[in-house]
Amino acid sequence: MFEVGKVYRRRDLHEAYGGQQQGGISTPNRHPIILLITGETGGLYGYKDGWDEDGTFRYTGEGQLGDMQFVRGNAAIRDHGSNGKELHLFQQESRGLIQYRGQMACAGYDLVPDVPDREGSLRMAIVFRLISHPRDEVSALDEIDSPVDDHGQEVAPGWYWSAPLEEVRAAAMTAPTVGMAPVFARRNVYHRSKAVSVAVQRRADGRCEACGESAPFRTPDGRLYLEPHHTKRLSDGGPDNPKWVIAVCPICHRRAHYASDSMVFNESLKKILAKLES
Ligand SMILES: [Zn+2]
Repeated sequence: MFEVGKVYRRRDLHEAYGGQQQGGISTPNRHPIILLITGETGGLYGYKDGWDEDGTFRYTGEGQLGDMQFVRGNAAIRDHGSNGKELHLFQQESRGLIQYRGQMACAGYDLVPDVPDREGSLRMAIVFRLISHPRDEVSALDEIDSPVDDHGQEVAPGWYWSAPLEEVRAAAMTAPTVGMAPVFARRNVYHRSKAVSVAVQRRADGRCEACGESAPFRTPDGRLYLEPHHTKRLSDGGPDNPKWVIAVCPICHRRAHYASDSMVFNESLKKILAKLES
């Protein structure tokens, strides 16, 4: 929806999507997106946003006085996966102009002590660890990394299919946690993402949750093939929540994206999900 590297007028984005026009974290009501603007205030208060050596982007939360709290924008970032909201990162360019850096996912956060607030008092800051949106990385991670759970323990590849479904769902819905080492944070995002994908396929049990038809074929390991579709997001992939993700046949998946009635169809999928998850 946004083009990486392109410079936007911030005002135009708010006209199109709504959201707070001031501050670094903007949370439009009517669209499933959160706009993060970096470079606006982070440096002012003694903490600088930016890419870390470990490949995570450190993003300082909001709150000008006193300890930062998990309210409003900070809560929105932490919970974006379970709320089905996309994170989009922009860099402040000059007054009113912001450059798009790409879609992100929140992998975790640190509570950093002794960061001066607006009045110079030392307080606790929330510093998020963001990674590039995993849609493009899941296959790469599949080969390089093995996923880890919330304690940094490796998860066996077959776990998603063999563990009790409730455990897989619980993993899918876990929020990013404090203080996880960056090297594990990325792999934990992948774990949650994978857990969502498998949990909804197991819920569907071989039948498209949209049209009710049997999955069209089996995978090499004998499973009935269905695809996870994210009903609340503008794109697919990434960590999310089984209550927003539906397992569908390839035809229904294409319909949800490309048909002339894709909007209406997508709304009908949300209703199906509301029943399945009630
Ligand atoms: Zn179908």
